Formats: sequence, C-alpha cells, structure tokens
Amino acid sequence: MPCVALLSDVLDMHYLAPAFREHCPDIDLRLGSDLGPLDQIDAAVCWFPPHGLLASLPQLQLVQSLAAGVDHITADPRLPRALPLCRIVDPEMATGMKAYVCWAVIQHQRQMPAYLASAARRVWEEQPMSPPGRHRVGIAGLGTLGLACAEALAAIGYAVRGWSRSAKAELPAGVTGFHGDAQLDEFLSGCDTLVCLLPLTPQTQGFLDADLFARLPRGAHLVNVGRGAHLVEADLLRALDLGQLSAATLDAFTQEPLPAEHPFWGDPRILVTPHIATRTDTSVIARQTLHNLALVQRGERPHTAVDLDRGY
Ligand code: NDP
Repeated sequence: MPCVALLSDVLDMHYLAPAFREHCPDIDLRLGSDLGPLDQIDAAVCWFPPHGLLASLPQLQLVQSLAAGVDHITADPRLPRALPLCRIVDPEMATGMKAYVCWAVIQHQRQMPAYLASAARRVWEEQPMSPPGRHRVGIAGLGTLGLACAEALAAIGYAVRGWSRSAKAELPAGVTGFHGDAQLDEFLSGCDTLVCLLPLTPQTQGFLDADLFARLPRGAHLVNVGRGAHLVEADLLRALDLGQLSAATLDAFTQEPLPAEHPFWGDPRILVTPHIATRTDTSVIARQTLHNLALVQRGERPHTAVDLDRGY
C-alpha cells in the first residue's frame, strides 16, 4: 500500500484526495498538519512544500510536482537532490495553454480592448486590421507547452518563431527556431508579441526586464504565462510608459493573489488573469504520481523526472 503525502505551504491539498482514493482505494494518504509517522511516507506531491520537510522524510522515494514547473520545489534549500523530482506532462494541460496563448495573441492583434470600449459606448467603430501573417509571435521556451502553442499559432497563420536553450532538430511547420544567448537578439527583434513560456530557473529569473524590452520592436505586446519572477514589474511599467511596449497580458505574478492595491490592476494597458492559463486535472496528478512511484520502486527513472542541474 503506497503512502503518499500531499504537501503545500500555500494551498489546501484536500482537493487532491478524492482522485488519489479513486485510483488507489487502499492508499495511505497523509495531509494537513499531522502527517503521522514520517518514516512511512514513500512519495510527496508538492506545491510550495514547507522548506526542510522533504529532507525529514527518511523513506521518501519520489518528489512529485503537481504542475509542469518545479521551481516551487527547487526553492527549498534542503531539497533531497538524490531523489527523482517529477513534473506533470499532460496533453490536456498543453491544450489549455494553447487556447489561452492563442486568445492572448488574438485579443491584442485584433484590438479587442478597443472593441470592448466601443461596445460599452454602443459605438459601431472599425479598427485597423492586418492579417495574422503580418504579426510575428515569438515564444521564449520551446518545450512541451511552448511547442504546442507555436504549432497552434502557426496553424492560424501567425508568423511564429521560438527560442530555446538547445537547437531543435524538428519544429512544427511554419515555426522558425532560435537558440541560446547568441541568437536571442535576432529572435527578439522579430517579436510583435513575445510569449514567455520558460521554466523559472536561476538563468531565467528576471528575463523580462528593461534590457530585453529594448530589444523588441517598438510597441510590442508581452504575454507572460511562465512565472511572476520572470518579470521585473517596474521595468514593464516603465516600458509601457515609454511606448516601447504597447500592452501586456499577464497570468503569473511574483505575489499571488495579486494584491488589490497593485498597480497592474486597473491599468488599461495590462490584462491580468489569475494564474488560470491552464490547469492539471486531479486524476492526472494522481495517476502520474502512482505510476512514477511504481517505476521508482522497480528501479526505473520516470521520463518526467527533471534535470536538477538544469533546474527544469
Ligand atoms: P519544458 O521544460 O518542457 O520546456 C522549457 C523550455 O524552456 C525548453 O524549450 C527549454 O529549452 C527552454 N529553456 C529553459 N531554460 C532556458 C534558457 N536559459 N534559455 C533558453 N531557453 C530555455 O516546460 P513546459 O513547456 O512544460 O512548461 C514551461 C513553463 O510554463 C513551466 O515551467 C511553468 O513555469 C509554466 N506554466 C505555467 C502555467 C500557467 O497556468 N500559467 C501552467 C503550466 C506551466 P530546451 O528545449 O533547449 O531544453
């Protein structure tokens, strides 16, 4: 009988319990403030786990993120680095992200904020219109989610480019690839909309800053669906004031929930959504956790285990 702990400093993890019990009726599930004997816990499912707790579980065999990213776990300075740390990789999650990113690009490129303002005044007013092929969308991070978004945007007809750490042997039709620091300038110079779908690592923290904004075409649109810490918030406001950026669509923030007094709220140039670009179904989290634990117990490495040296 597997013993699985659901650990978070910020989230009530009870919402995951029914899915785990459905997939494994005899599971020993531990959550809340009393975790019982710590030496019985085989696997930990985490979202911002209390720092140091994972290191205090002597029989732990698997650390499982309940999301695609693992930054909320690698932030623990006492993370047991010898254990496999797995993330969720799920086609449904990619479908959700595709829908959000296509919407974010289209609502800006087709001037939806102006139409909503006209509609509120009951004014029939046409905005200038150009075909998708004249709008260049750049995706920073061509991983599971970035590639899915690039393919979907190219299928609509946008001029899509992507940037990753390593060169890609194959890309979806209509997508141009760039990689590494040496090609970052060239990539950025052709992004009318820049979508950030990078993982948060020491290398990518603060990636979206004044220096980067200056390398985008004037009036570019920023979409951040990565993590809040990718963005230097003060630099975004300044780039919008200077007209270097024209708009931002943001789904992730350094402080979540975004405080009511935050300047992003109510700024007509910034569209805020509350970290909802996509979600992982609870049954996917339960299934992948139990599958990964079974693999680890057979001595195999799950394919969703991240490379801790790279940080993603
Ligand atoms: P992957 O690990 O599959 O892909 C990461 C991509 O980023 C890869 O292409 C990788 O390059 C690239 N990359 C990483 N570091 C660098 C770097 N230093 N320079 C250039 N490129 C780099 O991640 P996913 O696509 O699954 O997820 C991406 C992120 O999306 C998650 O980490 C999470 O933060 C965010 N997310 C947000 C959600 C939301 O609701 N807002 C929901 C789900 C995820 P290479 O291909 O060469 O390895």
